[in-house]
Amino acid sequence: MVFPHLEKVLVEQVFVERRTLRITARTRDGVGLPCPDCGTVSARLHSRYERHLADAAVGGRPVVIDLTVRRLFCDVLDCPRRTFAEQVEGLTIRYGRYTPLLLDALRTVGLALAGNAGARLLKVLNVGVSRVTLLSLVLALPTPTVSCPRILGVDEFALKRSRRYGTVLVDVEAHRVVDVLDGASGDIFAAWLEAHPGAAVICRDRANSYGDGARRGAPQARQCADRWHLWSNIGSVVERATGRLRPGWLPPDRGPSATAEVLPDKPRARSRSGTGNGTPPSTP
Ligand SMILES: [Zn+2]
Repeated sequence: MVFPHLEKVLVEQVFVERRTLRITARTRDGVGLPCPDCGTVSARLHSRYERHLADAAVGGRPVVIDLTVRRLFCDVLDCPRRTFAEQVEGLTIRYGRYTPLLLDALRTVGLALAGNAGARLLKVLNVGVSRVTLLSLVLALPTPTVSCPRILGVDEFALKRSRRYGTVLVDVEAHRVVDVLDGASGDIFAAWLEAHPGAAVICRDRANSYGDGARRGAPQARQCADRWHLWSNIGSVVERATGRLRPGWLPPDRGPSATAEVLPDKPRARSRSGTGNGTPPSTP
């Protein structure tokens, strides 16, 4: 129940050594395993050797599993492999120094926090891993395959403001970043759409570059302005209209001569400072 990943091995000893919980275990004899090259099952023993696997911490202590595994012969004449090392499902990974349980945790922390912050968090969780190791685990992950979502959002973002821009592509339904492109031109966007077909709707800003790229790369897709840009445009229009109409909003008893006096933004000033007693400002 506590160590389900150890159920396939024989645990011989559990002890604490300098704050580390060490578990001594070995694999069972006589169990046949398939050769990784030809798949033929063999149980003929060549030798044994010990592996030291870091595992997830228990009770505030780091855990190390000292696991003795077998090296087995492959007796198939045609097979290029003469011997092979035993792997325990759920406990060992070929050439790995961590159990799959700990490895998953390290990758998750690395993806969320990267090197320095991840190593600091893991130290609190009693897992001693350097920032370099954490980064190398993240870099070793396979790059996820990119496919085009049904509703694709596109916008630019600054890699270096006023100098270098990139393009971010978003799955609008899943609220997830799909890809990031170096550059913010219509050509780059069109090339990406041609390589990743399938967009039915493209949400974009109202600049011409992405519109042109979408027309060339995915002519079948319907284009629409995204919500952020619509709200931004509405806000700008309302602001301009308010500026033009404001003199007409003067109370009837104040003549045009009072305009300069009224124009200072009293309601705005109130809303910024509040009422001073912790209650929200009243609506102007
Ligand atoms: Zn073989």
